[in-house]
Amino acid sequence: MSAKPRVATASLCGCFGCHTSLLDIDERILQLVDLVDFDRSPLTDIKTVGDCDLGLIEGGVANTENLEVLRAFRRHCRTLVAVGACAVNGGVPAMRNALALRECLEESYVRGVGVYHPGIPRDPEIPLLLDRVHPIHEVVKVDYVLPGCPPSADTLWTFLTAWLSGQPIAFPYTQIHYD
Ligand code: SF4
Repeated sequence: MSAKPRVATASLCGCFGCHTSLLDIDERILQLVDLVDFDRSPLTDIKTVGDCDLGLIEGGVANTENLEVLRAFRRHCRTLVAVGACAVNGGVPAMRNALALRECLEESYVRGVGVYHPGIPRDPEIPLLLDRVHPIHEVVKVDYVLPGCPPSADTLWTFLTAWLSGQPIAFPYTQIHYD
């Protein structure tokens, strides 16, 4: 473990909007890279998570690869955070939970508008979809949740700076209302 806290991030079944929000801290990203080392993350392109102090998870758990990644993050990250609505409650991807998986697949690949070569993909390289999309707390223990779609850059910054300084995590009202 390096002297600086080590931070990993991953997008499971998300849209990368939460990662983009992190980048929206703008020039504060320079402070952040002075304060932490990044491990596995789309920001580093490291593919395997190592021992970390903090893991930030975007997206819900929709397939077998998401399960593996999330469990590896829980094993390796001392503190794990659900970032954004999809990680917290399944978000938009969980809208498919109202339908059987078979129905979703047939609508997408067999009967749907614009399908010209019907056939449900069966390539072993493609992770198998789970029957439903799960918020991450249904799979592993989660230490913090940051709601929002996405949580704002300022909300992420407030969380990171409080966590880094060992202060209690507290947000001003402007960062935790969603109307
Ligand atoms: Fe995208 Fe919103 Fe889900 Fe974040 S919470 S991954 S921004 S849909």
